[in-house]
This record gives sequence, C-alpha cells and structure tokens, in this order.
Amino acid sequence: MKLLPLQTGILYGPINSRRLGKSLGINLMPTTYKACSFNCIYCHYGRTDVLTHDLEKCKDDLPTVTDIVAAVEGALASDVKFDYLTFSGNGEPTLYPDFETIVKHIVALRNTYQPALKIALLSNSSGVYRENVRRALAFIDMPVFKLDAGNAVMFEKVNRPSRDVQFGEIVQNLSTLKHIYLQTVLMYGDPSNAEAQELVSYYEAVARIRPKEVQIYSLDRPVSNAKIRRVLPHDLEETAAYGTRETGVPFHAYYL
Ligand code: SF4
Repeated sequence: MKLLPLQTGILYGPINSRRLGKSLGINLMPTTYKACSFNCIYCHYGRTDVLTHDLEKCKDDLPTVTDIVAAVEGALASDVKFDYLTFSGNGEPTLYPDFETIVKHIVALRNTYQPALKIALLSNSSGVYRENVRRALAFIDMPVFKLDAGNAVMFEKVNRPSRDVQFGEIVQNLSTLKHIYLQTVLMYGDPSNAEAQELVSYYEAVARIRPKEVQIYSLDRPVSNAKIRRVLPHDLEETAAYGTRETGVPFHAYYL
C-alpha cells in the first residue's frame, strides 16, 4: 500500500482541496521525518517518527522564521494562483515554537500582496491550550480542528496521542473557542468510530464545543493499517444528517 511521501519543503501545492479549493500548503515541520503529537491510525504519511508535544528535540530540523517568510512572500509575489494559504504539512503546525509570530508575518504579507486570499489552519487540536496558539487563531480565516472521537478510549485507539495529550482537555479547550470548524475522519473496522454507540458520545462532544460547522470524511487515500476501511457515502450522509439534528450544528459529508 503506497502512502504519501513527506513534503520536502516549506511550501507544497497548490493542491485541490475538497473544502478549500486551490490550497497552497505551508509545512512548518521537518522535511525528513514526521513530527506530530498524534500517530493517527489513518495518517496518509504513515507512522509518526517523533511522537511528541514538544519540538525541542527537533529544533535544529525546523525551518527558520526568516526562511518561512521568504518562501511565502515568493509565492504571494508570483503568478501562481490559489484560494487559500493553509498551515498543515508533515505533522502538527501549532507545535512550531514561533507559531504566533509566523501567523502574524503571513497575515501581513497576505494583506500586502493578495488581500482577498484566505488563510486556513488544519490542526489536530492538541495545541489549543497554548496562549500563543489561541492568540494566533484570531488572525486565521478558517481554523479547522480535528475531533475523531467522543471519548478517551476511542481517542487513544484512533489518534494514538503522545502521553501528555488528554482527550478531556482537548474538548474543554475547543469548547472555549468561537467560530471554529471541526473535522472528523470516520472509519469502520478495528477501531470503528462510526458505529451508532460511538457516535452518541461524539455528538455530545460536538454539542459541547458548538463549532460553526463539522466536516466529516471517509478515508480517501491509502492508509498504513489494513484493519480499517472506508465508510460508504450513504452512511456518511446519514451520519451528517443525524449529527445536524442531534447537535444543531451543520454537518457536511465529504466523500471521494
Ligand atoms: S494529526 Fe495529522 S499529521 Fe498527525 S498523525 Fe494525525 S493525520 Fe497525521
């Protein structure tokens, strides 16, 4: 089974995103290994090489603020067209130590070169407790946070986080944010977070967080674990419709 290769630079794409249109990705993580606070069972980059919530041990491998700003400025000044600049890449972007500084620089560049361009963040939610991350969110047009489970047991099975990341704290921290989007990958197999009994606690967590919108996905690419499988379009649509009714939050299903 062929996984996606890691991103080899600071910028990648533009790629066609199911929800963002043409998106130019910004990778703040190392380019030779995956560093993340999660080791999601479905991650299309494969296993997390450095499972951590603190990038201190990786700091020599991170791009500098100067290099990131130069790369983004080069793209914004070029003829390449895209709709979103998106923080994502080889791991969890909010782990980057100067995340707030980077966001402010990129917002300033966007305002100078392409004021209509939007900025998105795809985050696994584990950095929301940090004050610098919370401040940076105010500048991001579409902050999207991962929630793949409704309880700690399923969270451990699907996201396989580093030891210092707690499910309860993530839900609590997300519930204090306004105007955020949630993103959920649903799967059948072992584990299955798409069965009716699992969805009860998941809908409760969504209702507590009260995001602007929930985007639910099936697996769309090869994954490293053969025990999990895709949720079919009909089931995904039903889950979205039921979720909207249960929580009062609009759900949207994405399936390829
Ligand atoms: S949070 Fe994202 S990058 Fe990290 S393991 Fe999960 S899917 Fe992969």
